Amino acid sequence: LELAIAGVQQLVPYVPGKPVEELQRELGIAEVIKLASNENPLGTGAKVAAAIQATLPELTRYPDGSGFALKAALSAKLKVAPEQITLGNGSSEILELVMRTFVTPELEVVFSQHAFALYPILTQAVGAKAKVVPAKSYGHDLTAMRKQIGPQTRLVFIANPNNPTGTLLDKDELEKFIASLPAHVLCVLDEAYYEFVDPAVRTESLAWPIRYPNLIIARTFSKAYGLAGLRIGYGISSPDIADLLNRVRQPFNCSMLALAAAEAALGDSDYLNQTVALNSAGMAQLTEAFKELDLPWIPSSGNFVSVDVKQAALPIYEALLRKGVIVRPVANYEMPKHLRVSIGTERENAIFINALREVLSGV
Ligand code: PMP
Repeated sequence: LELAIAGVQQLVPYVPGKPVEELQRELGIAEVIKLASNENPLGTGAKVAAAIQATLPELTRYPDGSGFALKAALSAKLKVAPEQITLGNGSSEILELVMRTFVTPELEVVFSQHAFALYPILTQAVGAKAKVVPAKSYGHDLTAMRKQIGPQTRLVFIANPNNPTGTLLDKDELEKFIASLPAHVLCVLDEAYYEFVDPAVRTESLAWPIRYPNLIIARTFSKAYGLAGLRIGYGISSPDIADLLNRVRQPFNCSMLALAAAEAALGDSDYLNQTVALNSAGMAQLTEAFKELDLPWIPSSGNFVSVDVKQAALPIYEALLRKGVIVRPVANYEMPKHLRVSIGTERENAIFINALREVLSGV
């Protein structure tokens, strides 16, 4: 144990939820629904399934380590140069690559209170110092974050929308913040939920890494594109930063199935549109129920919503679990009275609402 670097020794192990099948057996109930990991409730799209099927005979080969075809497809769709793209094993790997490429133990990393849980873990794993800035109405307080940036700061994480709060930053304020960063500070703009954001208010951020060369945008195929199980995401940055990240990453970090599926998913606009429409309808369904139950919630731009159950949320989470509904307690995000619920299908949402109503009324 003592051979591990200091930050790693202090890491708290990640405790994953029980598999749905295991829970089903344990509880002896026919159906367990999982609204806990901000996954896509639509299931695998037909175009993705066909692309995977077509790839199966090739599995004895290594994947294309440069991700040529997927980068070409992303480049055409997003209007960025292929040299600006880094492909990752989930966008989590992009975040990790940035840490490993740029952050050493004597440096600081700045992020917000209630921000995505991977930021403190990655910071601790490299042994760097985390500067956690108090949130404003559950969202990032960019003015306060800017004030925390000093000579030792190397990286700022911004999640927009943020998980688990769903909060979205004003696009002009965000651009002003990025423009104000000193040359020795990098910024990761984590846009894992970008596709769910109303086009009227979302940032046209992909043009920014050329204007602001210290910016790295992270996006994923795990959420709106429905490929969480395959692990594939990407970074968009200046070509210089992408070159560094691509030197650090493992040569075959993205599997052949993931590359093929992501390319197919990118071309399946029907699936994406259906996902976004289902999400808006589901968000309305849940928030109407919260209103009726007199529970406050944090307005969310993602595919999940955090609801204030007005009491310790852990027992409510456990009672929901016994009824076969898995949601996410967020006490480790300093939100002990909130539960984060991912938007499911209309039916899954209704099952959750019903279970929540029963639990709150002691049934
Ligand atoms: N960023 C945020 C804000 C997230 O919520 C998640 C997933 N929970 C990720 C990044 C990482 O997702 P993935 O590695 O599946 O791309």
